[in-house]
Amino acid sequence: MRLSRYFLPVLKETPAEAQIVSHRYMLRAGMIKQASAGIYSWLPLGFKVLRKIENIVHEEQVRAGHIPMLMPTLQSADLWRESGRYDDYGEEMLRITDRHGRDMLYGPTNEELITDIFRSHVNSYKDLPLTLYHIQWKFRDEIRPRFGVMRGREFLMKDGYNFDLTKEDALHAYNRHLVSYLRTYERMGLQAIPMRADGGPIGGDYTHEFLVLAETGESEVFYDSAVTDLSFGDRAIDYDDVAQCQGVLEEFTSRYARTDETHDEALFNEIPEERRRVARGIEVGQIFYFGTKYSEPMGATVINDKQEQVPVHMGSHGIGVSRLLGAIIEASHDDKGIIWPEGVTPFHCGIVNLKQGDAEADAACESLYAALSNAGLEPLYDDRNERAGGKFATMDLIGLPWRITVGPRGLKNGVVELTSRRTGESVELSPEDAVARVVEIYAAH
Ligand code: ATP
Ligand code: MG
Repeated sequence: MRLSRYFLPVLKETPAEAQIVSHRYMLRAGMIKQASAGIYSWLPLGFKVLRKIENIVHEEQVRAGHIPMLMPTLQSADLWRESGRYDDYGEEMLRITDRHGRDMLYGPTNEELITDIFRSHVNSYKDLPLTLYHIQWKFRDEIRPRFGVMRGREFLMKDGYNFDLTKEDALHAYNRHLVSYLRTYERMGLQAIPMRADGGPIGGDYTHEFLVLAETGESEVFYDSAVTDLSFGDRAIDYDDVAQCQGVLEEFTSRYARTDETHDEALFNEIPEERRRVARGIEVGQIFYFGTKYSEPMGATVINDKQEQVPVHMGSHGIGVSRLLGAIIEASHDDKGIIWPEGVTPFHCGIVNLKQGDAEADAACESLYAALSNAGLEPLYDDRNERAGGKFATMDLIGLPWRITVGPRGLKNGVVELTSRRTGESVELSPEDAVARVVEIYAAH
């Protein structure tokens, strides 16, 4: 993409309404625009990162054997009356009446809808196990939408639902989700710690929330600092292997890590004092096993091998896809702007032409642009007739992890400059070597 032809409405001033850094930078970098309270338009740069995050979530879900689909945003109230949640859900549910006077709602979650699909089409234990998921917009009429996309009213969520014959099988689905979530967040450059949580209105005996540590997080968390040494890394995993998934779960959840809802001061005090941490975190996902809570009232049953009708065991599993943009920025920025991890960056590499209009510099930029594109990467070439300082400020703000700077002086010596956004370190390389280096970096992502 050439910046002169892109739509990147960068703001110079810091917007007064934004209280936290991620919200400020998303507005300043022209990623989002508020449409009304808690509801945002995703401008091209923001949309690009959103899609990257969505893709990682899809890839890791499919890798775990889960099946993508798509359900509507508007749901009929009748299904929610069947589960008993139409009244329980309260004011967070946006209720709508259609022209025929039928009660509808903008879905805050999809347990009812998916259970209805399941009961209409699945009858036998032979069709289990089954995990279906989608990535779809949700609406929750939050009393206090704030922090930009972090606590929106309309937000994008990945929600997945497992259907299993037995509790044991459903717990394997739970473990599988936990493992796949660890991988998902790590690919986004995030450390998200699974913490014992509380079921809330979704219910359930087993539930973990995934939290990204950040001072601006809305949840108070208590943990053993040993959990922050863990990393999933690039280990191979067979998602059908019950023992292996169980092993990973134990490794990541055996140390004390809890939200304030489940915090136990006595247990916490058993941790050696130097490892006790009280901090704040951003909830970027939650997994639940809730047994037959929805399948029983809604008649989601299968015939087992003894020809008996039994309700299926279910769980639901959510990732806050749009919230993740805010969480990543909270975890990765400096005073100049965002620092995208390679896995989610909107463009792989910036190209800054220090002297637009200089025949040699223009030609060198064009050939870098072509070489990076031909290698399957997406460069963002700042080809505007602007001063170098302005170009650098924009690049720093939008946070591309790598930048190649091209100017007549360097070109005389046959070099361009490759700069890391994270460390600020620059190296002088021939244009060919700079491209090769960037290609090599992304080969690992
Ligand atoms: P919270 O406690 O933050 O209100 P929740 O526990 O009600 O969230 P879940 O039902 O667990 O949310 O939804 C799954 C994920 O969706 C959450 O882990 C979070 O990342 C995301 N999410 C929930 N509410 C919002 C919101 N209002 N705006 C953006 N993302 C949200
Ligand atoms: Mg939650």
